[in-house]
Amino acid sequence: MNLAAMLRGRGDKMSEMNAAEMAKRQPFFYDVTLRDGNQALPKPWNNAQKKDVYLQLLKLGVHGAEVGFPASSEMDFESCKELAQLTAKMAEEGDEVAQKVVVSGLARCVESDIQRCWEAVQYAPHPRIHTFLATSKLSMEHVLHLSPEQVKEKAVKCVKLAKSLVGDKGDVEFSAEHFGDCLDNMDFVIDVLKAVVEAGATTINLPNTVERYRPFLYVNQIKQVYEALPKDIAISVHCHNDLGMATAATVESFFVGATQLEVALNGLGERCGNTNFYEVAVALHNSGVNTGLHLERIYETAILISQWSGVSIYSRAPLIGAEAIVHRSGIHQDGASKTKDMKKGAYRPIDYSIIGRHQNDSISFTSQSGRTAVYEIITKFGYRLSLAEAAELQPVLKELSEKEGELSAERVLDVFREERVNVNARLVFNNVEVIPDENRFIFHFKKDGEAIRRSVTAEGPIEAGLILMREINMPVELVKYRQVVVPEKDKLWAGRGLSRILLRANGKEEEGRGVSSDTLKANMRALFSGVNLLYK
Ligand SMILES: [Zn+2]
Repeated sequence: MNLAAMLRGRGDKMSEMNAAEMAKRQPFFYDVTLRDGNQALPKPWNNAQKKDVYLQLLKLGVHGAEVGFPASSEMDFESCKELAQLTAKMAEEGDEVAQKVVVSGLARCVESDIQRCWEAVQYAPHPRIHTFLATSKLSMEHVLHLSPEQVKEKAVKCVKLAKSLVGDKGDVEFSAEHFGDCLDNMDFVIDVLKAVVEAGATTINLPNTVERYRPFLYVNQIKQVYEALPKDIAISVHCHNDLGMATAATVESFFVGATQLEVALNGLGERCGNTNFYEVAVALHNSGVNTGLHLERIYETAILISQWSGVSIYSRAPLIGAEAIVHRSGIHQDGASKTKDMKKGAYRPIDYSIIGRHQNDSISFTSQSGRTAVYEIITKFGYRLSLAEAAELQPVLKELSEKEGELSAERVLDVFREERVNVNARLVFNNVEVIPDENRFIFHFKKDGEAIRRSVTAEGPIEAGLILMREINMPVELVKYRQVVVPEKDKLWAGRGLSRILLRANGKEEEGRGVSSDTLKANMRALFSGVNLLYK
């Protein structure tokens, strides 16, 4: 047996053949970040933010997206509708991902939910109503207060209604909520699922709503359903990560018949999250399965989602964590360096360039490098940087590297300091004098080459600075202010005060950074920097 076959199968003849067949299918990546992920955020996204996330999903080449729960609020309804309409528009303009993607909304097994869901998603080229009802004994008895017969009846009724709404344009997904808890009533569950298929559902989702037991048991349940239902029905898995095995359960389910894999970016989702999108994609890729995704967009997506959600990436998170590419012990460093240019490294699961990540330990910047390389280098020094700022620095560095060749991390840091810290442009800060008894601040600076001295009365220096900017017709609004110290990895400036001031003007935001051994000056330099970036 060759390696490829071994990777896909368990070794015995029968399952080897099945697994090989299974691996030829293309998985259907169905993302739930905008629904399961969003509902679990401390501060859920607004509609504009949801749109950013959705567009990033399309960039990844996702096959289906659950964009929300339209009946949950007016805002979520509007968001689902907007995203469905946006997809239609993009499809019309020739976007191939938008032409194919399934846009789905969640609905409880309640008539008004299902209707509301359809009102929102109907505009998409491939709309879907996803309705769900629990089939575990515990939930039926203690949560729903329904007998198994009533659950079956209700499920069929709702699926029929959903099917009548979607007609030939869309499709219906039914979830047997708490499927992982149905080990002791599988006959009943299969009976319900056959009935909802009869009623018009074409995707059957089998959630491990709470992960309690062995992945092996869950995967066996999936297999049982796969064997019991008609082969044109898509079997879907939706796992939560309560015991840290959601990825394992999802990946193995694919090899016993599930095609739709419900996942979330950065593993966001209720409690310990939903199955992590990237881990499943890479595990299948490593097993010889064609994912049909743009894997090279994974790393930038992870950074963006972390910024947008405010949920930081755990340093040891698989694939995307800061530590994932770091080798500390001598033995590991030796093995890593000896296999550095090989596809399969001694101490790494993949060639990280597959997910768009710079994988060299001594990271450098070449004319081929993108914004994620800039991001990695600067954040490795301990500075915070947004991906948007990294994108602005990238062309500057590219031009430089075309002249100088490969740029070392220190050289990149130099450029960051020049371009993003103590920025001089239209304004050049010189000094500020404080006259404490009079709450007076006297600024010495240049504006468009002209030396200016101006006195401002205010409670504090930042307020004085903001008043000054108004008076010289460069008004800005303070969004956030923070003072820290320069990270110690920046040998040149380590220990000095670093002020970070987020400013807004004309709908744009920029972070001004100021460094000085004098706190007041660091603040003023940050303010002037931010204003210079906003008024280029
Ligand atoms: Zn869930």
